[in-house]
Amino acid sequence: MSTLDDAAVDQLVRELGPAITTDPDAMLAYRRDQSVLTPAGAPCALVRARDADDVAATLRIASQHGVPVVTRGAGTGLAGAANALDGCIVLSVEKMNRIVRIDTDARTATVEPGVINADLAAAAAQVGLWYVPDPGSRAISSIGGNLATNAGGSCCAKYGVTRDHVAQLTAVLADGRVVRTGAATRKNVAGLDLTQLLVGSEGTLAVIVEATMRLRAATTDTATMVATFPDTASAVAAVLAIRARAEPRVVEFMDRTTIAAVDDMTHMGLDVTAAAMLLVQCDGRGAADDVRVCADACSEHGATEVYDTSDDAEGEAFMHARYVALTALERCGSTLLDDLAVPVPRLPDMLARIEGVAARYDLTIGTFGHAADGNMHPTIVFDAADPDTVTRANAAFADMVSACLDLGGSISGEHGIGVLKQPWLAAQVGETERELMRGVKRAFDPAGILNPGRGY
Ligand SMILES: Cc1cc2nc3c(=O)[nH]c(=O)nc-3n(C[C@H](O)[C@H](O)[C@H](O)COP(=O)(O)OP(=O)(O)OC[C@H]3O[C@@H](n4cnc5c(N)ncnc54)[C@H](O)[C@@H]3O)c2cc1C
Repeated sequence: MSTLDDAAVDQLVRELGPAITTDPDAMLAYRRDQSVLTPAGAPCALVRARDADDVAATLRIASQHGVPVVTRGAGTGLAGAANALDGCIVLSVEKMNRIVRIDTDARTATVEPGVINADLAAAAAQVGLWYVPDPGSRAISSIGGNLATNAGGSCCAKYGVTRDHVAQLTAVLADGRVVRTGAATRKNVAGLDLTQLLVGSEGTLAVIVEATMRLRAATTDTATMVATFPDTASAVAAVLAIRARAEPRVVEFMDRTTIAAVDDMTHMGLDVTAAAMLLVQCDGRGAADDVRVCADACSEHGATEVYDTSDDAEGEAFMHARYVALTALERCGSTLLDDLAVPVPRLPDMLARIEGVAARYDLTIGTFGHAADGNMHPTIVFDAADPDTVTRANAAFADMVSACLDLGGSISGEHGIGVLKQPWLAAQVGETERELMRGVKRAFDPAGILNPGRGY
């Protein structure tokens, strides 16, 4: 890969004016995402695109000069996928944050990629609609980034992940051409589904410049329950029973370490003697009945305490415990957050393996996550200033990913591969599948300038 020579910088300045800078201080804040212990290079230029034309001009000039481009949304990623590469152009789309239109009849919202998830949700709510995908970062992450990582969230248990809510995309290809994928219709089988190919592609195939996302009718009733368990196996048995009998929108899990950290921070009065806690939320007309079905399943599977409520404010107060899980663990030291998904029946094995890893490396690991999806976030707490604990944290991380693979799991449920998970990708997807992925990359980006070396 080349870097920008003076002629190319002049060309970019001519086309982009104030949208481009090569000031090292200005670029500093755009070098890294929020992942920990991932490498980040030094970019040669930062483009803060104002519109799709800026994106197209940047990519056209970058491909002419063979310069790598790292697209950046809000930079909240946790896999290092938006970290700068040495000599790259960082292409930020954060200023492209217009909600273009909300079509209440079609129940869609068309947005620029830099729109923050919570802003879209708020705009939809104003017209009685619901933008469902709700990553924990919804207040700070962008729709473009959510699409490029196929972000999950709490409501995935019932409503699926970001890819389940996208109708159409407009994207700029590596050479500056624009492609519009998908259709305005609810059903569409016209050729290969390029929309879904772009979802989760981590900025390696094209730059999303507009997205039409599906909205749902706002839910009316919700009901919430919380249950504590003497051991993690009972909690997972309850999850399996819940999944068999009801369709809650949220089924979240917290282990003993996380419960203690949350209680220490919030003084909520959580049962810190419990080994595990489940937070379950149902919605729709039968929400209160459904949540009682879930509560019964918990009682039948050994829950020590079960409490349910149809009061929205009280329900949100319960859910708060889960929302602040990572913040609570961050108070205990530096954190290395993992993102592992196993088949739900294998969760007890995964949780036991995580406990074994914590003991082996003498580290604190707090585990929380989306139980109905088998998607856990074991979070290693360590001292970033102590090289020995950094080494142990890295080794513990590697062991947990390997354990996940042993159990037939996926090395990433929702955060993506980026650079963080690359060492394990080959162990999960076979060589044939990987070669197909690389072939797709070549078809979209023959010169390989888009986030090269990232993902697959
Ligand atoms: C506190 C916290 C909680 C989180 N909770 C969750 C959670 O519950 N679920 C979850 O899935 N993730 C979660 N995340 C991770 C992160 O927020 C998501 O991965 C999010 O989707 C990233 O969006 P972003 O706008 O910050 O993207 P960035 O970090 O800027 O970029 C992420 C990737 O997307 C690419 N990209 C960004 N915009 C575009 C575009 N327009 N076109 C093409 N490629 C693009 C980048 O190149 C990069 O590969 C959390 C992060 C934090 C810090």
